[in-house]
Amino acid sequence: MKKIKITSVLVILTVALFAQKQPKNVVFIIGDGMGLAHIYAGMVANGNKLQLERFKNIGFSKTYSSSHFTTDSGAGGTALSSGIKTRNGMIGMNPDSTASESILEVAEKNGLSTGMVVACDVTHATPASFIAHQVSRKMTEEIATDYLKTDIDVFIGGGRKNFENRTDNRNITNELKEKGYTIAYTLDEVKNTKTGKLAGMLYNEHNPPMPERGDMLPEASMAAIDILDNNKKGFFMMIEGSQIDWAGHDNNGAQIAKEVLDLDKTIGKVLDFAEKNKNTLVIVTADHETGGFTITDGSIIKKEFKSDFSTKGHSSVPVPIFAFGPGAEDFTGFMENISFKNKLIKLLKLKN
Ligand code: MG
Ligand code: ZN
Repeated sequence: MKKIKITSVLVILTVALFAQKQPKNVVFIIGDGMGLAHIYAGMVANGNKLQLERFKNIGFSKTYSSSHFTTDSGAGGTALSSGIKTRNGMIGMNPDSTASESILEVAEKNGLSTGMVVACDVTHATPASFIAHQVSRKMTEEIATDYLKTDIDVFIGGGRKNFENRTDNRNITNELKEKGYTIAYTLDEVKNTKTGKLAGMLYNEHNPPMPERGDMLPEASMAAIDILDNNKKGFFMMIEGSQIDWAGHDNNGAQIAKEVLDLDKTIGKVLDFAEKNKNTLVIVTADHETGGFTITDGSIIKKEFKSDFSTKGHSSVPVPIFAFGPGAEDFTGFMENISFKNKLIKLLKLKN
């Protein structure tokens, strides 16, 4: 009798240990163009500390595309979302122009809730890579139309014009409403929506840069998590710090730090949620590095640094990965940017 009890306790303990490894929710965070120097710029400007330091599982992602040694955000986003190396400029497509399925779409198919919150037009390359299938990132009206073909539960960003002021005179917002979406044009309207499907189009074109955008990214991200977390099956969500890349293209170190700190604030709030929730895997990475950015001098005490750049475009170097929560150790070491999707499918036990 006693023996049986001990055995069953051991079984329960073993089951509990293994159960702990499986996440229910995934928050996939992309700092567009965010290399190590960008992160360090934010850290120095913030007095030598970042929320990112809470991560203990760290790796690197190799970012080259199928057509270029240096990727763009279309191929980079598609690699992260769909697990394939494709040609620069392409959105959710294989190099032969056939559609590839994104992790968001797989999650949706398996009954998880899905969402995206970005600091740019929602039809821009990175969010588009998770939801749309087009041969060119420039086809922003077609990408907006692709939102109708999915069942994404929550998406928040800019880009209202591509939904409502189009060359084909279709009003995609009205069509979204017919599909049951609540449409939010302000952050307050986003925050007042607690259930159901939500399309947050907060700006006509891109979101303004920091600091003009305020706490849009952290607040909209947490509002989205609030809605997505209603689903007992779990959720997959992508958050993008979109404008780190743009500050990199501008070779503007001070602006890079501001954009990184906005994303870092968001990361801190997501980590607070994940720590309490215990079933949430949080991954932070980038699609590529922008600017060939480096820091040549500075002062921790003065919160200052001296920037140097080797390009106005993207560079080819691997980018950091940070992971937290159940399954986090699977995202360490050197990885190809195409390995995220299948690792997530496996961890979430999704049917592909
Ligand atoms: Mg982007
Ligand atoms: Zn870029």
